[in-house]
Amino acid sequence: MKELSSVALAVEPSTTMAIDAMFKQMKADGLDVIGFGAGEPDFNTPEHIKEAGIKAIHDNFTRYTPSAGTVELRKAICHRLEEDCGVSYEHTQVVVGSGAKTCVYVALRTLLNPGDEVILPSPFWVSYAELIRMAGGVPVIVHTRECDQFKITAQELSDAVTDKSKCVILNNPSNPTGMMYNRKELEALAQVCKEKDIYVISDEIYYQLVYDEEKFVSFPTLSEDAKERTILINGVSKTYAMTGWRIGYAAANPKIAKIMSNYISHCTGSPCAISQKAAMEALLGPQDSAEVMRLAFRRRRDYMVERMNKIENVSCITPHGAFYVMMNIEKLIGKEIHGVVIKDADDFSNQFLKYGKVAVVPCTGFGAPTFVRWSYATSRRNIEEGLSRLERFLNGEVI
Ligand code: PMP
Repeated sequence: MKELSSVALAVEPSTTMAIDAMFKQMKADGLDVIGFGAGEPDFNTPEHIKEAGIKAIHDNFTRYTPSAGTVELRKAICHRLEEDCGVSYEHTQVVVGSGAKTCVYVALRTLLNPGDEVILPSPFWVSYAELIRMAGGVPVIVHTRECDQFKITAQELSDAVTDKSKCVILNNPSNPTGMMYNRKELEALAQVCKEKDIYVISDEIYYQLVYDEEKFVSFPTLSEDAKERTILINGVSKTYAMTGWRIGYAAANPKIAKIMSNYISHCTGSPCAISQKAAMEALLGPQDSAEVMRLAFRRRRDYMVERMNKIENVSCITPHGAFYVMMNIEKLIGKEIHGVVIKDADDFSNQFLKYGKVAVVPCTGFGAPTFVRWSYATSRRNIEEGLSRLERFLNGEVI
């Protein structure tokens, strides 16, 4: 038979999902493993949101909707964006998709011609690089450093621009680093985007999960120019513990929004009608459960960071948002652990899962091969036990 699509054959499976699958298999086999791979809140979707979904079914709200989402949901999104981020869009500038992931893909499809370059600061959320390639683009990875809090500087962005550059992807707060840009840093980046005339995909899906005094700043609020050239990505998955409902959205200038809407109408059709009703309740209903989650995440973060930094040969900086900690394992490179000389985060994570019975995510696929990502979207008990296991594992014990 003829060869399959070269674009499709080049797609790598999601490493975060691969680790999660391995962890789930070990669990199903009855092994006492603890998972820190989760990219989703461990909380349940709040009751009032679930009820809205159930009501939608009883009301027979079960048919196709407009492909960019119902007008009422898009208006609810505009309301929340205005309220929380201080950015105003008309509902016609909003496109709802089956998760933020779909919206990132459609955004890239809307911007890119074959061979266009997309600047991607690393460490990055693993799907970006694959989505860029799937959309015919070329990821240009700019490595950031732990001492710069894993943030790309305006100079680094400027240096990465070529005449093929079409856009930059910013993820703020970031998965996997948990870092958040301040206004000054964003303004400097926006200036470069303006000067070099590149678009911005600003993925702000963790915007509600921020923990310190620094206020979150949404990219399109920086200036009229920044708003014009930004495709804002957001969704309900993380803030409202709704990962399985599959509702994300993009907001952009009217021309881009229209093209995204055309594209999405043919590729995924309208997002799930029931989930749209639930998302409306999430955005317009009481916001207190989101705050309860945020406070719980903050307590877990504080504990994890403090304890991790007391363990020999590993360290982490304090993340300010999302629910991930980047553990630096540089000091373990070249050391032998349970018969294997550790070359990178993949080796470490495999050995840790096998002998320490803990699943963490190697950041090799995120462009940071001497870091592993711990998600603290899990119970305090698991976090305590996971870090105890790390200590024992590094001391040569088998768990
Ligand atoms: N962007 C980032 C940075 C993410 O971490 C994730 C989820 N892991 C997504 C987008 C996708 O979110 P959704 O569930 O809405 O597709």
